[in-house]
Formats: sequence, C-alpha cells, structure tokens
Amino acid sequence: MPMQERYEPKNFEAKWQKRWAQAGVFLAGRRPAAPAKYILEMLPYPSGQMHMGHVRNYLIGDVYARYYWMRGFDVIHPMGWDAFGLPAENAAIKDGVHPAVRTRENIASFKSTFLSLGFSYDWTREIATCDPEYYRWNQWFFLKLLERELVYRRFSKVNWCTSCLTVIANEQVKDGACERCGSPVIEKQMPEWAFRITRYSDQLLEGLDQLTQWPDRITTMQRNWIGRSEGVEAEFAVKGGSDSVRVFTTRIDTVFGCTAVVLAPDHKLVQKITTPAQRAEVESFAARTGALHGVERVADAAQKLGVFTGAYAINPLSRHQIPIWIANFVLAEYGTGAVMSVPAHDERDFEFARKYRLPIKVVVQPKTGERLPPGSELTAAFTEDGVLTDSGEFSGLESPEARRRMTAVLERQGRGKRTVTYRQKDWGFSRQRYWGTPIPIVYCEKCDPNRNGIPVPEDQLPVLLPDIDVHAVLTGKGEPPLAKVSSFVNTTCPRCGGPARREVETMDTFVDSAWYYARYLSPHYELAPFDPALARRWLPVDIYIGGPEHAVMHLLYFRFWSRVMKEMGLTPADEPVERLVTQGIVNGPDGRKMSKRWGNVIAPSPLVERYGADTARTYVLFAGPPERDIDWSDDQVEGANRFLKRVWALAAQYQPIVARAKPMETSEPKALRIRRAAHKSLKRVGEAIERLSFNTAIAAVMEFVNALYLVERVETDAERATMAEAIHLLTLVLNPFAPHLSEEISEAYGHQTLVADQRWPDYDPALVADDVLPYAVQINGKLRSEIRIAADSGENEVRAAAEADDKVRLSLAGKSVKKVVFVPKRLINFVVS
Ligand SMILES: [Zn+2]
Ligand SMILES: [Zn+2]
Repeated sequence: MPMQERYEPKNFEAKWQKRWAQAGVFLAGRRPAAPAKYILEMLPYPSGQMHMGHVRNYLIGDVYARYYWMRGFDVIHPMGWDAFGLPAENAAIKDGVHPAVRTRENIASFKSTFLSLGFSYDWTREIATCDPEYYRWNQWFFLKLLERELVYRRFSKVNWCTSCLTVIANEQVKDGACERCGSPVIEKQMPEWAFRITRYSDQLLEGLDQLTQWPDRITTMQRNWIGRSEGVEAEFAVKGGSDSVRVFTTRIDTVFGCTAVVLAPDHKLVQKITTPAQRAEVESFAARTGALHGVERVADAAQKLGVFTGAYAINPLSRHQIPIWIANFVLAEYGTGAVMSVPAHDERDFEFARKYRLPIKVVVQPKTGERLPPGSELTAAFTEDGVLTDSGEFSGLESPEARRRMTAVLERQGRGKRTVTYRQKDWGFSRQRYWGTPIPIVYCEKCDPNRNGIPVPEDQLPVLLPDIDVHAVLTGKGEPPLAKVSSFVNTTCPRCGGPARREVETMDTFVDSAWYYARYLSPHYELAPFDPALARRWLPVDIYIGGPEHAVMHLLYFRFWSRVMKEMGLTPADEPVERLVTQGIVNGPDGRKMSKRWGNVIAPSPLVERYGADTARTYVLFAGPPERDIDWSDDQVEGANRFLKRVWALAAQYQPIVARAKPMETSEPKALRIRRAAHKSLKRVGEAIERLSFNTAIAAVMEFVNALYLVERVETDAERATMAEAIHLLTLVLNPFAPHLSEEISEAYGHQTLVADQRWPDYDPALVADDVLPYAVQINGKLRSEIRIAADSGENEVRAAAEADDKVRLSLAGKSVKKVVFVPKRLINFVVS
C-alpha cells in the first residue's frame, strides 16, 4: 500500500504503542544470554500536572534503552511511583479527598502521558511505594537495620513546621521557613527514629572516588555534605577555675595567633563563666540568637555578632591569656560548640576581630618569602599554609610539620587529641504523618517501661496502614494522625500478649526511594525485598537519570542503603549506580523556570495532541545536551515537526519505487555515495547516543536525510537497492528519537519485524572513512576553541560538536545564544547575550 502524502502521526502513534506492548519487546529478561543493561530514571512523585521538564528526564532514559535493545542487550527499563508523601496528605487536609484516591488518580494520569509518549518501559514491573506489597519490605529493612544497630531511638531537636505540623529535614528548611509551604520553622525536642548513617561516613566518602561517571558537582556536594575534617580537639583552661573549653580546629598550627575563644550562645559553660558585669549583655544576646533556628542562625551569621563574657582562657601552647566570647556563628550542635578565633589566618575570624577590635596576630608567613604586614595593618586574612613565626619553639616550621608536632605535644600533656569530625548527621526518619510506611514497633508498659519500643516480629509484617475517615483523622492539627485511629493503635504485645500501643509515626519517603531500584528486579517476590540472584545479574544500575536537586539527600541515602544491602549479602555492589546523569531544566518560553506561578508551564498532552509524540520527543532531545538548561521555543518545535515531515516525504516518495528492491552488491558511484551516507549515520548516531549527546545524534540523522535528498534520480537496480537499504537504516537510526514514525515507514516498506526489535547493525568501516577538518569556534567573534570534525558535517553537527567542547560549553553556560553564524569548512560563531 502506498504511503499517504501527508505526515499524520495521529493516524498511527497509538497503534505502535499497542503493538510494542503486545509483542513484549520491552520486557526485561527476554534475552537471558545477552549482556544486561539497567537503565533507570528517578521514580516520579505523581502529583499535579506533568510538564515538559519532567518529560525530558524520562526521554533521556528512553532513547538510551531503545538503543541498547537494538544493540542486542537485555535491557531493564522500569517505571514506578514514589506514591507516599506530603502533598497528597496536605491536599486531603484541604479538600477531604483520601490520599490513596488522589494518588491513584495521579498515577493513572502520569501513566497515560507516559504511554502517549511511546516510552519503552517494562510495565510488568511497575511498583507503587504505597502498596503493602512494597512497604512491607521497608518494614523488613527497618527490623534488619535495627538488628544491626543501624536504627535507634533518640531525643533530638527537630525542625517543626508550624503550618504543616510535622517534622521536616534540615535540607527542607530554607532561610528558616518550610520549603514546601513557606511557614516559619521552629525547633522542638522530640523522640524520633534515626538511621546511623554516620557509621558509613568514611565509606560513603571513599566510595566517591569510584564514581568516576558521576558529575563532579554532585560528588563535590556529597563530599562537602559529609564534611570530614581532620584536626585537633584542644583544651583551653578557663582562668580561675577547673573548667576548660574544648575547641576543634583543623589549623592548630595557627594557635599562637589565637586572640579569642568563641562559644555558641547556648554552650553549657556560658552561664557559669560569665562575669557579673557582663551577665545582662550576655543573657540578652543569647536570648536573641538562641531563638533563631540552627540553619537560620548560620544563614543569618552573614552578620557576625558577638559579646564578651568577661572570662578568660589560657592558650594551651602559648600559655597566653585570651578573652572568651560568644557569637552567633558558632553552633552548639556542631563539633564542640566552641572555636578558637585566629583573625590573621581565617576570614570569618578576621571580620569578627575587625568589628570588635580584637587583636590580630600574624603567626604564619607565606612560603614565597613575601612578608605580611603586622596584624594591625593586615587587609585580609592569610589562610594558606606557610612558615610559622612568633610561635615559640615551633617558629620556622612549615604548617603541616607544625601541626604534627603541636598535636603530639598537646597529646603528651593531656591537653588535646587528634580528632576527625563530620558535618554529616544521622538520618532522622520518623514523621508525624499518615501517608507513609508504618514503623513496625509497639510499646508495652509491662515489658518496655522505658518506651524503647518492641519490634513487631517479621512474620507479622506488613503492619498495614489503616484506612481512615479522612475528615476525622487528617485535620492537620494536634497529635499524629495515626494516634487518632484506635483500631490501629491498640494491639497486643508480641512478648507478653498483653495490651500494647503501636508506634504512630511513619517513615520518611526517602526510605521508599532508598532501595526501590532493586525491587523492580522481582516486583512480586515474597521471600525477600528482591531476588538476590537477579541482583547479581542486573546490579549495579548502569545509568541513572534525574534532577541535580537530589544531590545530597536521596543520592546519599541510597548509597548508604546499597552498602548495607551488600553487607547483608543481598546485592553484589557497594555502589548502586555507575553513571549518573543530572538533566538540565526546561524553562518556559519566557526563560523562567516552568511554574504555575508564571503561567509558563508547557504540558506534554496538548503538544502530543497537536504535533504527535515524535515531534515532542525530537524537539526536547534536539534542543540541547541533556545537562544544559533549555528555554522552550515554539519555533524549534515547529522545526522538529518540519524535519519529521521531511523524513516522511522522503520515505513516501521512494516507497513505490524501491520498497521491494532486492539487496545487491555494487560499486556504482551514486549507489556508493548513498551507502556512505547511511553507514556514516550509523556510526555517528550510535556513538553520539552512547555519549548521551542526543542533539548531536539527531543532527547526524538530519545530515543523513539531507544527503538522501541530494540524490537526484534513482534508476538502476543497484541504486534502488541501495536506496532501500538507506531508508531501512534511516528507520533504525531514527527509532530512538521518533519511534512511531520509524515503525510506520518500516512497515510501509514491507518489513515484518518491529524496528524496536531489529538489530542496529555495525557500520562498515570502509564506508565511513572521513576527511577531518578543523573548525574555528568563536563566541561573539572571538576565537574560543578549535574542533576537528568530519569534513562533510553540516551546520547542525558542527554546532552540536562545538557545544560539546569543554571550553565552549563553559563559555556558553548561563548565556543565551541569539544567532549562529556558520561558514562551511571554516568556522562557527555563536552570537550570545
Ligand atoms: Zn510547611
Ligand atoms: Zn508486653
């Protein structure tokens, strides 16, 4: 049947989605002998409306998965739902819809969007974390981690959102307000459950060195988050008493320049040592800063404020007497809650000393031989290592050697010890919420008078989240919701059989997402969270795609969990993921982040409705490299659509002439030209996909199509045969990006096998030998770099290659390209503003 003249994706996109599902081409495990590839996108929290920024994330995985299926791999590319969580519960408080109902609706809506975009998920592995079949294993892990003493109960200061009425994580506090609702956050003392993630701080830190395929900025953020520092805890005796202040410092070599000891306002010694003359001032200062929340106080400490206590300390090495202050930038909960202030060699201390006219004393000189002026004339702190001066017996030593000797002296005298500190804290994970995994603990007054909690035996799992009367339970006020459900709360003690009460808090949803990737391997497995044999085949995940905003919470928690699972013998690898891709944002057409507030959200459905899924896919993938932000452009959507129309027209034009052509060997020049173009595209598209440079890959497909358009007439059998082969290869290289169009053309050309199930052939090396040319890359007319690229590359390919160049990439970051000037075989110039 001849192809229609017009490209009408509506006529066939749904058909192919159905055929892929019927044929089971994306079912993981169907090629047991083939190498395995695990491709994963962060599981979505299904809420509200999906926009094209989300779609971009899933598309990256989809292209990659489709490509590796065609390369003959056995691929697992699953999808599921991070289904517990706050928004559904908060919405229920507002409008009374049960969180389960709302969540199911949202899941259905997300799923239908995913299906309409032609994503290659193995839907037989779909999970939702709110299913008892899933969260049962959260509870199982809780018990196992409890056995390993990785779970414990503690009293601690927690962040309490005054509007959400729940505990929230440090990371969710922004400038003293709740990240979700903007209400003020206060500190409260509360019992909570915590994971002892700090036992793994060193491992998590060392593990970062293995993660060579993670973006540097993510590993750097994790390193800073863990915040390991080696130093000394030194004791400064308080003058005229038996007390001493312990300070932690990584720069003990500067101790002779210490001109004050500074305590947190709520340090336990403050009350005791403050002199009567200073008391009023100290108390009013402590009251003011103490009221500020920890995170907020640090943010606020841009303005460094302090007050003198009237007391003095003795420097343990110089034996000098120095004043003791309190200040807003020192936190009781970090380190020892006290620091030594060395203004000449620390920027913060320098600023503080200038403000309060504390002495500034230079004790380290640059190694360059350059001399710093006296402290009183110093214009900035000198913070590097150097050579000690005015430091008694240590003068003349270089900083590292001085640190070693000073530490040894302090240890010998019992005035200090070598210490490693971490910024990372244990992970408090209990939440006063309904819509989450119940914590499998009961409290029995008889067996457990101290309320440490008695674990629910494993064979009684899952502890089911009870159904509730939404209006009565989710009031958003007072005690935790589950405390109001007496049928849940009242239970029997597993030890004595007497009456007991259940824990009414639920787990942080980051527990759900800490291990879900392993559940996909055997989503209905009943003997363990997942089948360890399958874990050996599929783990670690080869590529993981998601937003950079998860750099320190989710991505640290699941690295922690992975290590624990390995110790339990469940998984083969320390690290959960080999390669991490953090995709850039899709901004609205106005250049602002898509948001309801700006009214600039582009949703996938109207776009699919108007242009078809393949246009939406091609546009997003072509708009820029995955990690770069892009601004939405309707013109470029039109451009992507024009390109697909062009592909359709080409296929339609040749279909009657070449569709039934028999393959044949040939050395006719025109036929060879066609074959060259085809094999070059096989090579370039494949290589570009492997480096996730999808814009380059699509550019190469465009060049290929251009080359086929340049063929003027197809007459001989050999020409017909090579054109048929070329169009066949075109359907292959097009498939990862525009899979529906690719299938439709392939079918019109008489192929019986789905393109999705065909092999991506190896290119013929003899046909792809390229002349390579240097191209100058300019930005606003100035030379920035030079790239080498195949001589017959067109503008799109040169542009994509130039944008991938490191120097150019950095120069273009954060700028918007207004125009591109392309001079074939010579240069490309980006005009930016
Ligand atoms: Zn809030
Ligand atoms: Zn009991």
